[in-house]
Amino acid sequence: MKKTISVFGATGSVGQQTVDLIARDLDGFTVHTLTAESNVASLAEAAIKVNAKRCVISNPSLKDDLFEALRGTGIAIESGPDALKAAAEEKIDISVQSIVGFAGVAPSLVAAQHCKTLALANKESLVCAGRMLKATCAASGCNLIPLDSEHSAIFQCLKAGPESVKKIILTASGGPFVDYTAEELSKVTVVDASKHPNWDMGQRITIDSASMFNKAMEMVEAQMLFDLSPDQIEVVVHPQSVLHSAVVMEDDAIIAHLGAPDMRMPIGYALYYPMRRNISGAVFSLTDMAQLSFKKPNTDLFPSLKLAERAMQIGGAAGLVLNAAKEMGLDQFIDGKIEFLDMARGVAHSLEVYANSSANMPDTLDGLNAMNEHYRQTTKTFFESER
Ligand code: NAD
Ligand code: MG
Repeated sequence: MKKTISVFGATGSVGQQTVDLIARDLDGFTVHTLTAESNVASLAEAAIKVNAKRCVISNPSLKDDLFEALRGTGIAIESGPDALKAAAEEKIDISVQSIVGFAGVAPSLVAAQHCKTLALANKESLVCAGRMLKATCAASGCNLIPLDSEHSAIFQCLKAGPESVKKIILTASGGPFVDYTAEELSKVTVVDASKHPNWDMGQRITIDSASMFNKAMEMVEAQMLFDLSPDQIEVVVHPQSVLHSAVVMEDDAIIAHLGAPDMRMPIGYALYYPMRRNISGAVFSLTDMAQLSFKKPNTDLFPSLKLAERAMQIGGAAGLVLNAAKEMGLDQFIDGKIEFLDMARGVAHSLEVYANSSANMPDTLDGLNAMNEHYRQTTKTFFESER
């Protein structure tokens, strides 16, 4: 039986790799919908490659361009937020959620009500609305499989003893600035921060890796996904990115997941779960690696990790606030309005504003959107007041 599948954010780094894997196994999958924000050429190419039934482009002004690009193919075309929501409501086997940022939270939450398996790359969904997403999956019977490489690794390691977990070890490459001094970090440019030593990813997550905000997000993502307390999450810097993460069991045995730093592994794992197939053809051998090294992160130089701990300690909607402030900081850094190290200062400020407020965790999508906007503005105002 073919599996029905849709890919949200099909033109991104994760989305394109997912489409490539599906294209290698068109006897195994029927593609319902591919979505993108604005990259018409890439969306049309992907849709033709996997013979998708439908494409959704979020930016409505690009609908005609997409129509031209798909003329004669028979692929249906839709645009705008309502079309994106309708696509998330499809009753399909696998919904791959690989939109970047807060924009991916609503489609993930809607898809979790309707699909059988939610293959989740959009970590913001868990960071901003983890409890809501897990409760939605529990109510609908949707299987939540993480695509983030560390979380996929932990998901797999947990099979060795789900009841005996002492803590998890999240590995971090440390990014391109792992050995920088505070002085060097203060001078980092957007171009410097947009290059990752090991992983080929979208620009925003690449800069987040350089500031270690990606790992900060992943700490909260892991807390939500695996129901952990903050002291059960340890971050270890491992520059080779070969050990994708690990679980320390009650007997102090460490169960680890190793392989090439290749996102097609965790994506493939989710597409075929609970079976395993190597359709990417990736081969990895331990003897290829001269040395694997591990060290503790420097949280003075990378305060993002401490901010994740603070967010977990505050609880409630602090994950949402962490992400909203981080996204605003990223926007402003990319636009050249703030320096690299300012991003963490903006997040620290907004987390404390939230900690001193009486706001509760929103329980509706509208509430999440309003709170996200509020803390984006809070962070922006902080940066403006500093200028
Ligand atoms: P990307 O920037 O390469 O692609 C993002 C995709 O989202 C594109 O298809 C884009 O069209 C779509 N998109 C962006 N803004 C949108 C909006 N407002 N509305 C609708 N669609 C929108 O991102 P990426 O690197 O593939 O990352 C996607 C997600 O996966 C992120 O949450 C990231 O943290 C996570 N992730 C990525 C990697 C990786 O290797 N790239 C690894 C682990 C987790
Ligand atoms: Mg990751």
